[in-house]
Amino acid sequence: MRVIRSAAALRRALSEPEPESKRGFVATMGALHEGHLSLVRAARATEDVVVMSIFVNPLQFGPQEDFAAYPRDEDRDLAHAEAEGVDVTFVPSVEEMYPPGANTGVRAGSIARTLEGIARPGHFDGVCTVVAKLFNMVEPHRSYFGQKDAQQVAVIKQMVRDLAFGVEIVVCPTVRDADGLALSSRNAYLTPRERERARSLHRALETGRELLESGSDADVVGETMARVMTESAIEIDYASVVDPETFEPWRGEDVALLVVAGKVGRTRLIDNLPVTMSAETSTPPSLLRKRG
Ligand code: AMP
Repeated sequence: MRVIRSAAALRRALSEPEPESKRGFVATMGALHEGHLSLVRAARATEDVVVMSIFVNPLQFGPQEDFAAYPRDEDRDLAHAEAEGVDVTFVPSVEEMYPPGANTGVRAGSIARTLEGIARPGHFDGVCTVVAKLFNMVEPHRSYFGQKDAQQVAVIKQMVRDLAFGVEIVVCPTVRDADGLALSSRNAYLTPRERERARSLHRALETGRELLESGSDADVVGETMARVMTESAIEIDYASVVDPETFEPWRGEDVALLVVAGKVGRTRLIDNLPVTMSAETSTPPSLLRKRG
């Protein structure tokens, strides 16, 4: 595996020896866990060349967020990448990605205006800017992202469409611990008691799924998910049912996405669960009543 730290060296490395080989790309902020590695494995299974980046992107953190404290362990991450068969790991510094004077950015599209976009102003602009720049540097055929960050995936797909990037976005399922908690680098911040309380995010989603499948109104589902989390002293940002592509409120489409976010102590966690509706349950009772 080659470890590369500059954009110029990356370009040289990727132009040899077979410039036409299919290249898969996995962007990460490091602190690698099985969720990240599942993306690498999916890429390894299909691509000739697998490129991973490790970069904690300051642009996507708000002023009150955890940029400085974000877990970093390069040696461990590189060992994982090597073991999974990554060909090239790109580990740029902040100065390499944003040299003095760099101030052009991407403004995320309409999908960024809700949920995470409200809770974290500017976050998706930072994500789009770094991902666009990494796409330009790596020039992948396909890029692999996690369902764990569902709104991020939708925002990036929108950017790829709107700005005509020639890259296919592949979405991989959320990897969870045995008790349902979605793996996240931020789980490392949790105390054992908080880790216990954090399970309520997944419990809320499962409860929400059951209610939705049995025909409950989206508002009731959202309120119930919020209650499940509040019972575990989670400070809620949102608990909603949305359309998985537009992130607008769900209106009975075939697939609904349950989304939750909140703080466990000082640690902010997010999770989501897609629910495919069967024919009998796909129209919310509230809409039936209005039509009826
Ligand atoms: P991050 O390092 O948090 O920026 O994440 C890098 C990539 O890994 C993103 O595409 C995430 O959606 C994905 N990812 C993070 N956690 C998980 C998980 N538990 N399961 C699947 N993918 C994940």
